[in-house]
Amino acid sequence: MRELEEKIDRLAKSSDLPKADLLELITHVTPELSNYLFEHSVTLSKNQYKNKIFMRGLIEFTNVCTKNCLYCGIRKDNNKLHRYHLSKKEILDCCGEGYELGFRSFVLQGGENPTYNDAMLCNIVSSIRKQYPECAISLSAGERSKQSYQDLFNAGTDRYLLRHETASISHYKKLHPSTMKIERRIQCLYDLKEIGYQVGTGFMVGSPYQTPENLVEDLVFTKELNPSIIGIGPFIPHSESPMRNFPAGDLNLTLFLIGISRLMNPKALIPSTTALGTIHPMGRELGIQAGANVIIPNLSPIHMRKNYNLYNGKLITGEEAAESKDNLAIKLKKIGYNLVGERGDYFPE
Ligand code: SAH
Ligand code: SF4
Repeated sequence: MRELEEKIDRLAKSSDLPKADLLELITHVTPELSNYLFEHSVTLSKNQYKNKIFMRGLIEFTNVCTKNCLYCGIRKDNNKLHRYHLSKKEILDCCGEGYELGFRSFVLQGGENPTYNDAMLCNIVSSIRKQYPECAISLSAGERSKQSYQDLFNAGTDRYLLRHETASISHYKKLHPSTMKIERRIQCLYDLKEIGYQVGTGFMVGSPYQTPENLVEDLVFTKELNPSIIGIGPFIPHSESPMRNFPAGDLNLTLFLIGISRLMNPKALIPSTTALGTIHPMGRELGIQAGANVIIPNLSPIHMRKNYNLYNGKLITGEEAAESKDNLAIKLKKIGYNLVGERGDYFPE
């Protein structure tokens, strides 16, 4: 135990550790070691962000997707889903509601849907930018060309979220159809960085066929990319996906990886994800107590939320709902944090 704690001490001090040591840590997760890790990760998170938790409003603007990621509930081949597109007006209305509730940061997420071509998406972003000049705009709309990312940046997008999902080529192939390539995904991430976005990457924990070595690759890749945002959540099966029979990712391992990621990337914005809240009633709070500092409640039109069904049981009500952010604030207060609406930018220096 002392040996493992020393590795955590070293990681906390230098933000880095040889792969073999990372592997040893993530294969020896115990409640005691987790507590030891979280003392460090929470200290680092508070050094950077005090006891603020940034809230972002999530607008799931379409569940139409041309891709077929094997784990995803809104994949193209799921024909049991009511598909929808939000219009520009509907998206702006969501922002309006969010603004009233105190949100100054919006995240637009959707499947890869060609209806939202560059002209249309740029038009939506620039309208939000114009109407809410002080708000941060994040997009999560999958793989696009560098020119498209550039145009969306010029239109006023500040951040782009594109999880690499897994940094291992062989593991990536097991999770995706052969037409999808990890090289392309990684190229997109570097394009986004070059353009000047605050870039978010991340991965699922416990996705089918994942090994501890894969997770080490994820940690190392993430550090190498040096992103502004790191999204880590458990895999959760979806009954209409080919991966319906695999078990969900483990809560404690997910929390541990959030803690390790905080140590490796002390300044990163790290969301406590909806998937975490879905696998455990206290998941959101536990994520924060492992070193996360962002929460992304749902601002999508209420009657549409059930259709953005990435995995079974995805939370859409309770503290997951933007309308309930006062309850969320109370819950966070109880564990010593302030929920704030401000933009919550990443400052590398
Ligand atoms: N189409 C975009 C954004 C929507 S999907 C994209 O793929 O980037 C957003 C995220 O949901 C994905 O990055 C993936 O990590 C996560 N996700 C999809 N299916 C999931 C599942 N079954 N369990 C947990 N997370 C899932
Ligand atoms: Fe589409 Fe994203 Fe789901 Fe893949 S993970 S099928 S790209 S929505």
